[in-house]
Amino acid sequence: MLVLKFGGSSLSSAENIRRLKEILTGKEEKFILVLSAMGKTTNQLQALAEAALKNEFSESMEVLRMQHIQASNELLKPIHQPSSSLRIQQYFFQLENICNGIFTLQELSEKTLAQILGFGEKLSSAIIHRYLLQEGFSINELDSTQFIKTEGDYLNAEVNFQETKSLIQNHISEEENYITQGFISSNISEELTLLGRGGSDFTASIYASSIEADHLEIWSDVNGMLSANPQVVSEAISISELSYEEAFELAYFGAKVLYPPTIRPVMQKNIAIHLKNTFQPESSGTIIHQNSKSHHLIIKGVTSLSDLCMLTISGVGLAGVKGTARRVFQAMEEADVNIILITQGSSEQSIGLGIKSEKLNIAVKALEKQFENEIQRQLINPIQVLENQAIVAIVGDAMKQHIGLSGKVFGILGAHGINITAIAQGASERNISMVIAQDDESKALNAIHRYFFQVD
Ligand code: ASP
Ligand code: MG
Repeated sequence: MLVLKFGGSSLSSAENIRRLKEILTGKEEKFILVLSAMGKTTNQLQALAEAALKNEFSESMEVLRMQHIQASNELLKPIHQPSSSLRIQQYFFQLENICNGIFTLQELSEKTLAQILGFGEKLSSAIIHRYLLQEGFSINELDSTQFIKTEGDYLNAEVNFQETKSLIQNHISEEENYITQGFISSNISEELTLLGRGGSDFTASIYASSIEADHLEIWSDVNGMLSANPQVVSEAISISELSYEEAFELAYFGAKVLYPPTIRPVMQKNIAIHLKNTFQPESSGTIIHQNSKSHHLIIKGVTSLSDLCMLTISGVGLAGVKGTARRVFQAMEEADVNIILITQGSSEQSIGLGIKSEKLNIAVKALEKQFENEIQRQLINPIQVLENQAIVAIVGDAMKQHIGLSGKVFGILGAHGINITAIAQGASERNISMVIAQDDESKALNAIHRYFFQVD
């Protein structure tokens, strides 16, 4: 069996949904089709929920309703239109009731927001199910809230893999085709929960791993993973093969094609992920699997994270004192600050932390409090802050077999007059990260990319 997932842009119009049908027609295997919401529906629903607090949601709700009715009417023959419209109207009736409730109570809880955002996938799967039936597919609808079971919060819920897997395995027959919603799930109290924005990829991966699918196809509007963000590096190329680890590194660093949690469930079962372009189905896209062979490429991507700052904790009081790093981490954890990059030189005179700029004030306060005593006694200097920083990273499994690679990268940055504030490399040698000024980010990405991908 195959699992195929189509993202929002692949479902944004009747014309695109016909492409999806063509792609399915070419499949010989039975499949589970996992769908995102159509186009930008989830964003529109988010705006709608916020507008409901001010009772200003009617117009945008009408726009959304018409988008769905129109797609349904364009796809379906007149005889099938009324039943599809009825289902759409029912969903909008529920949505309207919830929005009215938000206004009346003047409260938009995460639980309610999850319910609202979940309508996008319910609508797209209902419409496309009817369409595929009309086109002669034999295909059953699965309600993902009955199969993907979660714990924790409503918007970024954690999957209970054991329960989920057994529910899926007990229900799915290898002789049938299925269509279902990405993104939505439910908790033990049967309340609707979500797998995080972009979570449909993850849903597809969970189904694929539970049924031990032959492979997982993720269809979007780009030719797989690229060597860099094409909006910044116009010479970016599509990478034909990646290992799971490389894909994870690239996905983590903002390559929006794949939601990072997607990789683990299929990796555990050694199921390959094919990233494909709905608008160029003949293009090979990217295959992510265990034995990635594109070893002619030492690095697979150059990527970056912006809006960061570096904090430095330094002073004579750090050297040889045990527990300082633990206290730094503890302070950050208690302040709910995620540490993106860490450096410590062997003289132990300083610890550097890269964090998101939006957390700057909280982080500095937390560190000042943690080290109040040492700062007062001048054993530790006041926390130093470097703002407007970015991390540029190069990623590739083959880096570990190449001596002098970091030297080359530093040389390239040096030749372009770009100063490196901090460097981090994991012992896996799969990623070398350099902190630089945000103003140099695009220059650095282009220079490094040009060198490694040898574009003249
Ligand atoms: N529709 C959801 C979102 O836009 C989930 C997804 O598309 O993966 O975040
Ligand atoms: Mg999406």
